[in-house]
Amino acid sequence: MSETNNLYDVIIIGGGPAGMAAGLYAGRANLKVALIERGMPGGQAATTHLIENYPGVESVDGPSLSMTMHKQAEDFGTEMITGDVEKIEDAEKKIKKVITSRGTYLTKTIILATGAEPRKLGAPGEDELRGRGVSYCATCDGAFFREKELVVVGGGDSAVEEGIYLTRHASKVTIIHRRDSLRAQKILQDRAFKNEKINFIWDTTVETIEGEGKVQKLQIKNTKTGETGEYPCDGVFIYVGMVPNTGFFSDLPILNESGYVVTNDKMQTKLPGVFAAGDGRETVLRQVVTATSDGAVAAFYAGHYVELWEEDQE
Ligand code: NAP
Repeated sequence: MSETNNLYDVIIIGGGPAGMAAGLYAGRANLKVALIERGMPGGQAATTHLIENYPGVESVDGPSLSMTMHKQAEDFGTEMITGDVEKIEDAEKKIKKVITSRGTYLTKTIILATGAEPRKLGAPGEDELRGRGVSYCATCDGAFFREKELVVVGGGDSAVEEGIYLTRHASKVTIIHRRDSLRAQKILQDRAFKNEKINFIWDTTVETIEGEGKVQKLQIKNTKTGETGEYPCDGVFIYVGMVPNTGFFSDLPILNESGYVVTNDKMQTKLPGVFAAGDGRETVLRQVVTATSDGAVAAFYAGHYVELWEEDQE
């Protein structure tokens, strides 16, 4: 592990829209900034087939928007580092250490932009058949199910939007929802209700996912009558919400009871010099536009903190 004496003004952890917007703003403010990402840039946005509610961009696929954001942040001076952050620690003189699988980096401020990941359903068979018909990403896996019959579990924006997308490939998509009304935005609901390939099973939960080497059927249960039954299908896409990615900092006293990072409206956590932005933050709306907005605000106030930090050292 290489220790570097290179002191950054800002280290952003997470390369989704929040992190890349923070990089763009910090870079344009002439701060010395690095962004650490463990995988492909873009976060959840990169796994979304179509984004049509990001102002100024009528319609774009998630991977393209992510690559543009990445390039824009890099062009304005954000150093892109690939690595898995294992720990953040305080060092002397109000400097922070970011310890990663590839080395340790020193910084005056940190912006946590680690986002959220799909929540598991918790049904028996889900883990065993993951990649064999169980999926959390329609954009990634939908094409494997040409003319097949699919199930989508959930009733939020993701379930309905990705269910609609899956009708491009599948012959039939059944959305199984635990209640009798959807949580998804009205515009998405209307599209799904009009789509002849989509049907709904209401008030129903998926109890188990079964199959020999691949998904073949589900055991389902009506939440009102208790009636159980079998539902044959070739694949099941699970969209039952998100959980925040807080693994390496879950011991810090900055999380609410659901694991989301609590900040003020300047994106500051209660730890001096530690900011947060995007879907991993306690907030009411989780969209690309809100994540980028968070990132910009976090970078702006991180810049203020850096000025005070420098005065403090004089
Ligand atoms: P979500 O809004 O939290 O919806 C999760 C859905 O899964 C709900 O319908 C919920 O049912 C259901 N559910 C939760 N746990 C379940 C369980 N154990 N078994 C069965 N069903 C379960 O999550 P999301 O759809 O992934 O969206 C996450 C965020 O991203 C939201 O803020 C959403 O607005 C945003 N988003 C926006 C867009 C867009 O603007 N185009 C697209 C995708 C996502 P109940 O309804 O009964 O609680």
